[in-house]
Amino acid sequence: MSIGTNWARHYEYTATTLHEPRTVDELREIVAAAPRIRALGSRHSFNDLADSAELVSLEGLEPGIRVDEETETVSFSAGVRYGDLAEELQAQGWALRNMASLPHISVAGAVATSTHGSGDRNGTLARAVSGLELVTADGGLRTITPVDDEFDGAVVALGALGVVSRITLDIEPTYQLRQDVYTGLGWERLLDNYDAITSRAYSVSVFTDWSDDARTTVWLKSRLDERTPPGEVYGAKPLGESIGLAEGASDNTTQQGGVPGPWNERLPHFRMGFTPSNGDELQTEYLVPRRHAIAALRAVRALAERITPLLHITELRTMAADSLWLSGAYDTDATAIHFTWKNLPAEVLPLLPVIEAALEPFEARPHWGKLFHSVRRELYPRLGDFVELAHELDPTGKFRNPFLDRNVF
Ligand SMILES: Cc1cc2nc3c(=O)[nH]c(=O)nc-3n(C[C@H](O)[C@H](O)[C@H](O)COP(=O)(O)OP(=O)(O)OC[C@H]3O[C@@H](n4cnc5c(N)ncnc54)[C@H](O)[C@@H]3O)c2cc1C
Repeated sequence: MSIGTNWARHYEYTATTLHEPRTVDELREIVAAAPRIRALGSRHSFNDLADSAELVSLEGLEPGIRVDEETETVSFSAGVRYGDLAEELQAQGWALRNMASLPHISVAGAVATSTHGSGDRNGTLARAVSGLELVTADGGLRTITPVDDEFDGAVVALGALGVVSRITLDIEPTYQLRQDVYTGLGWERLLDNYDAITSRAYSVSVFTDWSDDARTTVWLKSRLDERTPPGEVYGAKPLGESIGLAEGASDNTTQQGGVPGPWNERLPHFRMGFTPSNGDELQTEYLVPRRHAIAALRAVRALAERITPLLHITELRTMAADSLWLSGAYDTDATAIHFTWKNLPAEVLPLLPVIEAALEPFEARPHWGKLFHSVRRELYPRLGDFVELAHELDPTGKFRNPFLDRNVF
């Protein structure tokens, strides 16, 4: 029997078994016994990345959230969702450096795909990882920390090396942010002042439908212990009230209008307990080296007539470089060009190779958890090392699936 669909409901997993262990020992036995198995997170990816004959969810394991004040780290069971982790950290006076647009996703699933938020000085969420406990193909338990040679390969691992059972993340003392939204940023002004705009706050997002200037907005998430936000952003005017990203919906977004609040209630765009984003959608995203950002944006904008009618919204974000082999920001600061599409796969999917052809000169890496046409393996200089590591940890290919065979192996 089918175990159901992904969050967006357009992909039905082919897996017929979903294991839900309650302890790590049970998890180890399940993994050791299965010929083909993969971990399933909170099902928010838009493709067949997670799928396998058997899947295992960690949602039944105790969260086991433990803060270590001395090392400024937190460790927890890998199936924990960001929203739950963030609430516990905030209650204890601690914080994460960054979060994605939604708190609903599992930490393991987000880290495995190099999910990111925004901020010129913030890395992807995987960059906060300072330790992993991995259940390997034979049911063994392996601890991997930054001193291990394979660490940079094992963090963004697409579930290909095993099932991550516990994660340790770096944390810092809690902080406050405010969120200010500005509307009507002109396209040429955006491109002429891109660096000044993306560096104007701790975390910056630009939303656009690629058409005219009126629909382009800037969201500044400013830490209260840093610069106060400007009166306007290159002609874009501040909005007093909260706006949503879906037509007519603002309930699901975290508070805007410059009202200060804790990091976990301002960094994500969407609130726990509400449907994030639009709900009836597909998503695609490309991470482009920062040095190519402006040329890449111009190339995509030249396709606006084809993109805009299929689009709910585009979001542009930035992130700092990391050293994680399969990360979209490997060895380069990056700009992420994201598309929330209408749920029209027959029209959206044929457009992806067109966008990828336009981005071809700009070394664009697709987001592993979203829809794309193809991966250019040469853009991952450590891919060969990753494949070697996977063969070493998983000699029989227990964690391989068609997605990995197409795109990685
Ligand atoms: C509404 C919405 C908003 C989004 N916003 C953002 C955003 O702001 N930024 C961004 O970068 N992305 C975003 N995404 C994409 C999302 O963050 C990724 O798809 C992420 O991987 C989802 O995590 P998940 O727990 O649902 O993983 P799943 O989709 O369940 O799994 C993804 C991968 O992680 C692996 N995995 C899961 N758990 C484990 C484990 N314990 N051990 C080993 N591997 C594991 C799976 O095997 C699979 O390969 C968004 C998605 C949605 C639906």
